[in-house]
Amino acid sequence: MKIYNTLTRTKETFTPITEGKVGIYVCGPTVYDYIHIGNARPMIVFDTLRRYFEYKGYEVNYVSNFTDVDDKIIKRAGEEGVDSSVISERYIAECKKDMASLNVSEATTHPKATEEIPDMIAMVQTLINKGYAYEVNGTVYFRTRRFHDYGKLSKKNIDDLRSGFRELLVSGEDEKEDPLDFVLWKPKKEGEPFWESPWGDGRPGWHLECSVMSKKYIGDVIDIHAGGEDLIFPHHENEIAQSEAANDSEFARYWMHNGFLKINNEKMSKSLGNFFTVREIGEKYNLQVIRFFMLSAHYRSPLNFSADLVEASKNGLERIRTAYSRLQEVIAAGKEDVMTAAEKENVKQIDAYVEKFEAAMEDDLNTADAISVIFELVKYANTSVGQDATKEFSTYVAKKIKLLCDILGIIVEEEQGLLDDEIEALIKERQDARKERNFARADEIRNMLLDKGIVLEDTREGVRWKRA
Ligand code: AMP
Ligand code: ZN
Repeated sequence: MKIYNTLTRTKETFTPITEGKVGIYVCGPTVYDYIHIGNARPMIVFDTLRRYFEYKGYEVNYVSNFTDVDDKIIKRAGEEGVDSSVISERYIAECKKDMASLNVSEATTHPKATEEIPDMIAMVQTLINKGYAYEVNGTVYFRTRRFHDYGKLSKKNIDDLRSGFRELLVSGEDEKEDPLDFVLWKPKKEGEPFWESPWGDGRPGWHLECSVMSKKYIGDVIDIHAGGEDLIFPHHENEIAQSEAANDSEFARYWMHNGFLKINNEKMSKSLGNFFTVREIGEKYNLQVIRFFMLSAHYRSPLNFSADLVEASKNGLERIRTAYSRLQEVIAAGKEDVMTAAEKENVKQIDAYVEKFEAAMEDDLNTADAISVIFELVKYANTSVGQDATKEFSTYVAKKIKLLCDILGIIVEEEQGLLDDEIEALIKERQDARKERNFARADEIRNMLLDKGIVLEDTREGVRWKRA
């Protein structure tokens, strides 16, 4: 597979550190609110990368963190008058729900920064011992100039960066040795969460968290490090500096960065206020449509979010699903079981679509082209797999459509609704729960049915139900 490596600015052939295995670290969200659909882009893109590697037979160790200690979380906790862990736990749970609705698989590990503090302190200590870090008034800084490769990912020149900080240098207000130095550990402020450390009570800097969590859950050297392109500088540049200085080894071999999801040609972001949460979009569209929309562009290209484009994705996905369900009817109606000689010839054509799909995915995860191939296969199915097809052949075509959609994490089979008997059984269970005054369970069942579009009506004659 070829991957565009931000480090070398070229497409390179991917070779894993250990054959058959791949370790992927994706910077995860800061959990102070619902995630927006911009945040969902890296989740969907790199989940698809993972699915493709799994399809190719790799054992994938996929690690994605939750940043659960941060100024924004602390601010939100202050506003609500609760502990910051209440905020972070709430939004981790909500984020996981959104990921599930987007069919993003759970990571092998989802580490939380607050649970890895001892290892963070240990890395800071290592950096101090090696002369890469120093403490001033309870803050520990990374000595950026000591790390000679600084700027290698973002292609920034350290002297240019330094001149950007000239005002600070002139005013002499900065306690840092050099304005380029960044924080590894910061002292607590009144009312903030803190941990004890050799440099006083405080908390880790954001960049440090990822260096430590990737080391713990993947190793000193990781195969692929990924995130949105806004993270290249300073976040990923600083991660490299910390990890390579501390571990004396290369940090990540391939760096992948997704382009921005935009709205009216501006980056969608919380700070600009031009965002939609996954939750609110989920009320308007099936989130499978959003996943399909995200994958309809190459991950490195900017992608504009607009109602028209989402509508086009909705229609595209519908076309695939309709073809797939028609094939189910063809399979059921098939008179002959075993493929004919002519159909056996046609299998080669079907397999060629699968190869073409793989070639697109092998070319730096070109999901846009991969989706075009699915459409070609769908067109083939619609025009060439008719009522006279044998069961074996129509099943073969249907399975291939499903296989390719599965690799993209696109669910091609509509979720089956509840059967009448199942609904009646749940209503009976609800009645029993009410008799036992277990109203919590009764409400739970009512809401569960409502989620599936079943509305209950309590009447004098008993419970009536209808499909909404
Ligand atoms: P944050 O919580 O802001 O650190 O973002 C979590 C992840 O979402 C990071 O990988 C960001 O690069 C990514 N991200 C944030 N906004 C966008 C956007 N508009 N388009 C694509 N990726 C984004
Ligand atoms: Zn990170």
